Amino acid sequence: MKEAVHKDNNWTICEECQGRGKKSRRLNKKVRLDYQNALEQFEKTNGEGIAPLKPKAPLYNCLKCSGSGLIPAENAPAPNPDYPHVAIIGGGIGGVALAVACLHRGIPFTLYERDNHFEARSQGYGLTLQQASKAIEGFGIFSLNEGVVSTRHLVHTPEGKVVGEWGVRKWIHSDERTAPKRSNIHIARQSLRLALLEQLGDNNAVKWGHQLLDFKQSEDKTIDLRFEVNGEIKNTKADLVVGADGIRSVVRTLLIGEKTPLRYLGCIVILGICPLSALEDVESELLDSATVFQTANGNERIYMMPFTSDSIMWQLSFPMSEEEAKTLSSLGTQALKEEALKRTQWHSPIPQIIQATNTEQISGYPVYDRELLQQELLENNGPITLIGDAAHPMSPFKGQGANQALLDALTLARGIYKGCKSKDFWKENGLRKSVLTEFESEMLERSAVKVKDSAAAADFLHSEIVLFEADHPRGSCLKNK
Ligand SMILES: Cc1cc2nc3c(=O)[nH]c(=O)nc-3n(C[C@H](O)[C@H](O)[C@H](O)COP(=O)(O)OP(=O)(O)OC[C@H]3O[C@@H](n4cnc5c(N)ncnc54)[C@H](O)[C@@H]3O)c2cc1C
Repeated sequence: MKEAVHKDNNWTICEECQGRGKKSRRLNKKVRLDYQNALEQFEKTNGEGIAPLKPKAPLYNCLKCSGSGLIPAENAPAPNPDYPHVAIIGGGIGGVALAVACLHRGIPFTLYERDNHFEARSQGYGLTLQQASKAIEGFGIFSLNEGVVSTRHLVHTPEGKVVGEWGVRKWIHSDERTAPKRSNIHIARQSLRLALLEQLGDNNAVKWGHQLLDFKQSEDKTIDLRFEVNGEIKNTKADLVVGADGIRSVVRTLLIGEKTPLRYLGCIVILGICPLSALEDVESELLDSATVFQTANGNERIYMMPFTSDSIMWQLSFPMSEEEAKTLSSLGTQALKEEALKRTQWHSPIPQIIQATNTEQISGYPVYDRELLQQELLENNGPITLIGDAAHPMSPFKGQGANQALLDALTLARGIYKGCKSKDFWKENGLRKSVLTEFESEMLERSAVKVKDSAAAADFLHSEIVLFEADHPRGSCLKNK
């Protein structure tokens, strides 16, 4: 894999904004006076009225670090022993991102990953960075060499009729005034993961081959963790445990049992990655490495996006019972390819792309999420929390899982940095009070809407709704209702 970032840069947090990337502006006089008046009125009711909410100070981007919260440094900061030692379980997108954000803040951490090495499993699919295309600067990544920016998004009927179009190219050629606020970056999951891993620098930063088995809180309030490593049991300790171990999280199960089992969303996805070199005979403007397109018939839906500048990723999905979906995914990649071909004899270049995809680059699985996690379930668990898919798994149809995992990681590291400045305070009051309660409340509220929208998308993308003629992302019309 090619180098993904300028890896020699070290970063530390910007003192000006304390690594937040934002600074607060003073509330204007009128807002302050209105609040004071409302508070006085409330106090006169002897607590029986409704207390006014304290207005939040408006934020602006820190000028010193241009909003990233980071400034270049000679070396990464040394771990500060006054901060809690964080055990991060899972070296996927969220776990590695948290490790990077801890590194920049001098928060000591150990990152444990069950796989034996980076390429241990086929992890070949692409991600679209939406909100996180800005947030990745908070991890010291200012350019993704492997990322591809799309400028056009099309929706077709199976015959190839365009029923929706948006993106920069559309806005440039039309009178539309609503230009997009930010661009979407498409990147292979492994390239993003590598870009984050490179920030960690030292190859020993990840404890590969460490599978968490269980943990328990000891009397001194630290957590004892038990791992399986090369068939042997290994014990370690940490002050704070973060489960970043994905949709089938062991940490989540150890914390709350089976209270929120996997929830089948009624459909299967089949994925493939096809090199453009295998499509040299196919003439299509859709293969320009800057176009995302989807085609649907009210049941099956295929989504195609640039994977790298010289390959394209497809994701076919359709409704199916859970049993059938499990059976189909277990039949192997040739069966998945045949099923995909059978269902998509549609406009060019769809059948050609699927036909030209090597079976080694095909995978397929039933789609799941879980019921929304309620904070009360985490509250009594001491210094253990969850991020990413472990906390809020969602269907891939809104492309939000990795975006949310990155936001979780940055928010948590910022929370630890702020809440644990005084060792005496966090030792005495506990990490839940110092950091986790506030962190979980923000994370669960922010991600809940994404989980719901992603589940709704699993329905409407496989219905007639997807074919309504409209120049905006599918589903946004439902939101406005
Ligand atoms: C086809 C597809 C397309 C997607 N497209 C997008 C998209 O466009 N945009 C987007 O934002 N999201 C997308 N997602 C979702 C996104 O990939 C996930 O939400 C994201 O990877 C979650 O990151 P995570 O770190 O929480 O978990 P993961 O990346 O799944 O990482 C979990 C890690 O934990 C490790 N682990 C598990 N158990 C243990 C254990 N007991 N001990 C130690 N380690 C353990 C695993 O080996 C793994 O490395 C897509 C997902 C799929 C499947």
